[in-house]
Parts: sequence; C-alpha cells; structure tokens
Amino acid sequence: MTATSKVCVIPGDDAAPEAMQASLRVLDCLELPIEWDLMPAGKDLLNEGIAEREKLFRERIDAADTVLFGASNGTSPGAGYMRWGKLTFANVRPICWQPGFKSPLREPERIDYVIVRENLEDMYVGIMGDAKDLLDAGLADPRSRLPEGATDGRFAAKIITRPGTEQVAKFACELALQRSGRLTVSAKTNMLPATDRWFCEIVKEVTQDYPGVHFEEFIVDDMAHRLVVKPDELDVLLLPNLYGDILSDLGAGTIGGLGLAPSGCYGHDFAYFESSHGTAPDIAGMGVINPTATLLSAAMMFRYLKLTEVADRLETAITEVYLAGSDLTPDQGGDADTETFADAVIGAL
Ligand code: ATP
Repeated sequence: MTATSKVCVIPGDDAAPEAMQASLRVLDCLELPIEWDLMPAGKDLLNEGIAEREKLFRERIDAADTVLFGASNGTSPGAGYMRWGKLTFANVRPICWQPGFKSPLREPERIDYVIVRENLEDMYVGIMGDAKDLLDAGLADPRSRLPEGATDGRFAAKIITRPGTEQVAKFACELALQRSGRLTVSAKTNMLPATDRWFCEIVKEVTQDYPGVHFEEFIVDDMAHRLVVKPDELDVLLLPNLYGDILSDLGAGTIGGLGLAPSGCYGHDFAYFESSHGTAPDIAGMGVINPTATLLSAAMMFRYLKLTEVADRLETAITEVYLAGSDLTPDQGGDADTETFADAVIGAL
C-alpha cells in the first residue's frame, strides 16, 4: 500500500484557476493516495494583506510534500518562495509532440526533448539599478562598450556561480543518462565570456564525471534556429535561466503552443509542478484555457511521488483524447471548452 502524500494546490490567477479546476476534476477520478490541500485562487485573496497572504501560503507549502501550481500574476503568492526559498534549482520543461497537437511545423513527429533551465541565477537575481552607480563605483571597465549616454542608463546584473552551475549540470547529466545520454548546452559564449562561456565550460567539466554523457555546445542564437529546424536532434538541453525561459516558450510553440507544455522545478529536497505558460489573462473568464499543460505537470508530479502507473494512465488518456481529436480547445483548432476537454480525458480514463 502506497503511503499518502500531501499535495498543496495553488490555483493561481487570471485564467489559470480555470485550467486547475478542470484538471482537479480529472485527478479526482484517479483514486489517488493523496491528501489535497486546495488554496484559494488569487481573486479570492484580494482582501488579505500581502504579508498575511505570503504567510498563509508559506505555511501550507511547508506542510505539503509537493505543490501543483497554476500560474501567478503576482496576486497568488508562493512562486518566489518555492523557487528561492526552497532552492528549486532545476526547471525541467519537456517538449514532446504527440499526434493531434497542432504544431506549426511540417514534420513535428520526432520532437521529444527536455529543456533543463537553471532556475535561480543569471539575470533573475534581481540586481538592477542606475548605470551611473556602476560608473561612480568604478565598476564599469573603461574597455567596455558603455554608450555615451550611460549616465542616464540602467543596468541588470547577470550572475552565474560555479556551485549553481555544477548542481544543475549534475542534474542534467543524470537526466541525460536516463534518456539517450546526449547533453546539449547553449549560451551566448562568444559575447559573454565571463558568464556564458564559463557556464558552458563548467558544464563540460561536470560531464567528465559522467562517461555515458555525450556533450555538445551551441551558441544560443544558433540554438534558437536549431529548435525550429532540427528539434529532433535534441535530447536534453541545458540553458542558463533567461535563455531557458525564452527558448522553452519557443519549444512549446513548435509542438503546438503553451497550452501543451508542462514543467517541474526540482531542488535537493523539494519540487513543485506548474505549466510552462503564464496566467493567460487575455482568455480569463472565457472557459477555454487548455488544461493539458496543467494535467501533464500533474503527471510529472505523480512520477516525483513515485506514482508511476498513475502518471502513465493519465498521459495515455490525454494521448487518446488528442488522437480522437473531437474535444480539443480552441488553441488546438477545436471548439471544446476547458471542461469539455476535461470530460473527454475523464471518459478516456
Ligand atoms: P508569463 O510572463 O507569466 O509567463 P506570458 O506573457 O508568457 O506569461 P501567457 O500567459 O503564457 O503569457 O500567455 C501567452 C499567450 O498564450 C496568451 O495569448 C495566452 O492566452 C496563450 N495561452 C497560454 N496558456 C494557454 C493555455 N493553457 N491554453 C490556451 N492558450 C494559452
């Protein structure tokens, strides 16, 4: 008998709770050894002060084994805490086409790779300010290409660390070994030697400890091109934070859109799961958001909880609905609403 896990569900903001609500209906059918802790959606939190909201969410996140997270526009708290508070350093974003996914590419059949995005460093460390302060502190190298108007400019710092890069590189190597062994790394190595060149060098060093891993490297602009013209050559793609954020949306676009792309953020002793997409504010309240990304994120969560068979069942049911093709949401060319799609998955289960 499998032990019961506690899962905190954060529905999120704008259209995200619509995807979550439909997904939870599907998950209800799976008879899971899970105790769910359902948090309020962002719109129901507006009367709370920010500090109370933060405190409430932190306590409930801390009490759970893992979290299924809808997207947040900042109203629903928790994302920053789960990332930097719980040090979830590896954001895993599978990009896998399935029959029925409305890819804009002519031959999407062999797209099946995973982006591992470093999740804590790079330009997301939040060090920003006036360029004048850099100049005044003597931090602007006179050989740099600082424009003349820099005294009226801003900067954002890009921080890459050896320990941060090593830990995500090890994670990516382990993942590559579970797949084909091929690990691709990419950054702007030619223009940013101090950070990006170094990132790739550290990753290469780490791969020396993994003889089964085949290492390759491309400059990130070339990588963007490859994601469109040669996506079938990729297996595990490791990227620094910012490029990972941008290129995973590009990857999602190649299989048929953001509504299809799940993700999981993993640390050493905590992980949480969320779709790759944002809150889709433009379709909020319309009941048409595609819950596939949320459901596939739940399947990733089940694997993390060692409920492998449940993950397989859920993924198979989703595959069947796409193969049938009659209950798809508008982003996939169908006219079904979110709940109708969920009904179809429940039917397939
Ligand atoms: P964030 O910055 O929070 O990641 P974003 O600016 O990337 O958000 P999204 O919320 O991801 O924006 O939405 C981008 C576009 O994709 C919008 O037009 C949105 O409606 C659409 N979209 C996103 N997710 C889905 C989904 N699950 N189903 C259908 N359309 C979606």
